[in-house]
Amino acid sequence: MSKIRYSIVAPCYNEEGNLLELRRRITEIMEQTGEPWELVLVNDGSVDRTGEMMRELHANDPRIHLIDFARNFGHQVAVTAGMDYAQGDAIILIDADLQDPPELILEMIQKWKEGYKVVYAVRSDRKGETWFKIWTAKFFYRLIYNITDVKIPLDTGDFRLMDRQVVNAMKQMKERHRFIRGMTSWVGFKQTGVHYVRQERFAGETHYPLRRMIRFASDAITGFSHVPLQIATFLGFGIASLSILATIIVIIARLSGNHAFFGQATTLVMVLFLGGIQLISLGIIGEYLGRIYDEVKERPLYVVNETVGFEDKK
Ligand code: UDP
Ligand code: MG
Repeated sequence: MSKIRYSIVAPCYNEEGNLLELRRRITEIMEQTGEPWELVLVNDGSVDRTGEMMRELHANDPRIHLIDFARNFGHQVAVTAGMDYAQGDAIILIDADLQDPPELILEMIQKWKEGYKVVYAVRSDRKGETWFKIWTAKFFYRLIYNITDVKIPLDTGDFRLMDRQVVNAMKQMKERHRFIRGMTSWVGFKQTGVHYVRQERFAGETHYPLRRMIRFASDAITGFSHVPLQIATFLGFGIASLSILATIIVIIARLSGNHAFFGQATTLVMVLFLGGIQLISLGIIGEYLGRIYDEVKERPLYVVNETVGFEDKK
């Protein structure tokens, strides 16, 4: 058993307005456990004062450790780095913007002590987010649930507690396009959820505009499902059957003197329709192909500029 009992991992990208409050609330909560803990801050290539502030926080409290990335690698990769370096027996992932209330960590720890290996936080409500974000998120969670092979609990983000065993299993999953929620479900173990109301951001703005949300969703789908690849097959069979039926109808119509199918318009519409379907199918194959390419290159997942605070314990 390691000396550190709990590792709180917070990925940070331009979170200068949130760091002090995060430190304050995490410290307040974790002190109540009466057990040793660390706060692992991952600086994901921030361009504001996030990096300097993290160093100051470490200087004031050596329990705060930091991983400084060489550039921005994205939220899911930042979380992965945090998990790689975390030393605790239980690892808790939390957003740095305080949308996930740290107070819930105590409830998670309680469940962990009851024997659950993963305790995920279910958002029963969301505050201060646009109806568009709420609606697209709801749609996304349900789509993923229905078409992926692993049953990822509905309305859960990355806010969760994981046992050391779970984290060790996830460390062996080297995929580049990471979807942490799916990966935690994939490894299995005894899991349970606790409910909470997702809060407004304490400061700053979301880093997930629509473009990034779509990329995130396609990583989730391609990472855990082959259904999109099968769509082309289904469409192919469907359209081929339709065309056989149409041929028969046209022959009968022509023989009975009906001229309804003359003209270029029908031909043009059909060609464009099929062209569209073929391009979409190619695009779907491309999505998978691009990801296969990224995998075979075997680049490191992230590049670290500096780590602070881990050395003495390694
Ligand atoms: N984040 C990150 N790298 C990025 C984007 C976001 O580390 O490239 C962090 C961010 O600092 C925050 C968490 O990931 O702690 C969630 O991001 P955000 O709040 O922007 O997403 P939302 O809550 O709106 O889904
Ligand atoms: Mg947020």
